[in-house]
Order: sequence, then C-alpha cells, then structure tokens
Amino acid sequence: MRIDIITIFPKMFEPVLRESIIKRAQSKGKVKIYLHNLRDYTLDKHRKVDDRPFGGGCGMVMSAEPIFRAVEDIKSKSKSKKLKAVLLCPQGERLTQKINKRLAKYKHLILICGHYEGVDERVRRYLVDEEISIGDYVLTGGELPAMVLVDALVRLLPGVLGDKNSLNFESFEGNLLEYPQYTRPSEFRDMRVPEVLLSGDHKKIEEWRRQESLKRTRQRRPDLL
Ligand code: SAM
Repeated sequence: MRIDIITIFPKMFEPVLRESIIKRAQSKGKVKIYLHNLRDYTLDKHRKVDDRPFGGGCGMVMSAEPIFRAVEDIKSKSKSKKLKAVLLCPQGERLTQKINKRLAKYKHLILICGHYEGVDERVRRYLVDEEISIGDYVLTGGELPAMVLVDALVRLLPGVLGDKNSLNFESFEGNLLEYPQYTRPSEFRDMRVPEVLLSGDHKKIEEWRRQESLKRTRQRRPDLL
C-alpha cells in the first residue's frame, strides 16, 4: 500500500512514522508513506494556503487551489487504479473497524489534513472521494486523525503483525469486545487470575473467553450486538 499525506505540518508525523509497527511495516516494504507540504503547491511567494471566508465570520479557510494541485500531482504520478482521496473532517463518516478493513484494501490512499476553520467546500464536493471523522469532537487539524487512520490501516496489512491471528481475536471482530487478558504472575497482591486460564483445558478456556466477550459487550457496548 502507498499512503500520501498532504499537510502543512509534515514534521508532526515524523516521530509516529519512525516508531513501532508503522516503522517496521515500512522497513518490510508493506507500506510506503510520503509526506507532502501543502505550501509546496502554492503559487504565491508567501506560500499562502488559507484566506478569509466569503460572507464574513471568524477564522481562515484553507484555499482550494493548493489542495487541488497537490492531489492532482500525486494522482498523475500514481501507478494505481485503486486510489482514493480521503479528507479528514469532523463532518465525515465516523471511523470504525469496518471502514478500516475496507480502506486497507486500497493500493493507494491520499490523506488530506485540514486546518483553521476547515477547507473550501469545493475540495469536499469536487475533489475528495471520502470524508472520515475520528469522532464527534473538533481537533485543531487533520494531522492527528490522519495518524490514527494510518496506524489503524497499517496493522491490517497482510504480514505486518507478527501473529496474524491477533487480528481475528480482538475487539470488534464478530461484533464483540475482546475477553479479559491476564499475564504472569498468576497471583499479584491477592488478585488471582481466573482458575480456568491456568487449567490447560483449551476447550474450557475458549468457552470462558467467548462468554466473557459476550458479557463485556452486553455491559459496555450493547449497540454492537
Ligand atoms: N470548522 C470545522 C467544523 O466546524 O466542522 C472544523 C475545522 S477543524 C478546527 C480543522 C481541521 O481539523 C479539519 O478541517 C479536519 O481536517 C481536522 N479535524 C478536526 N476534528 C476532526 C475529527 N474529529 N476527525 C477528523 N478530522 C478532524
């Protein structure tokens, strides 16, 4: 997979892309991530990416032209037909694991990070294929949402996680939350691990986990069931 990120703050991504699973996925060649400074696509000498809103009102709006130019440039160089331009936007569809799985099948994604009061409406209407929100709250920019999306997608790519089974037994698989997990020691400050997990009886353990998953989902997220 290839991911191009258009942002006015490319440096914000560097620490995240250089650590942990995202770093390993890049070294293994499972994903290529390119950062583009939106200011490189401006035409004026001040490299201006925003302007005052028509009709008045507070704040600044990101101009359509540099965003169109950036996306068109990346698209014109893309070798992939399975390409999607995604705007990170609080008004977009709320991100779920189902959406992550669908997007992870794309060969090439372009992520656009807004700022200020958001982007000129023409970007949303005529340029992007999809708008994604990471939740019902407003952040200052699309950089953190883009990082959330990249992390969620990269771990789904084949060969990225050490044990591919960990994707089958985690929250939101089969509309359930994951069962409780414990590790050594079996007793810590008088708190004991459930006996069944120490029994070595794999059938019983599997059944216990399933019941716990159901119980937990009913208690915390009945909407999933
Ligand atoms: N004025 C906009 C509104 O009320 O809908 C909010 C703009 S927000 C301050 C600036 C940028 O941050 C957005 O263009 C978007 O790229 C990003 N952003 C903020 N919250 C987000 C969220 N929950 N999900 C995805 N992107 C978000």
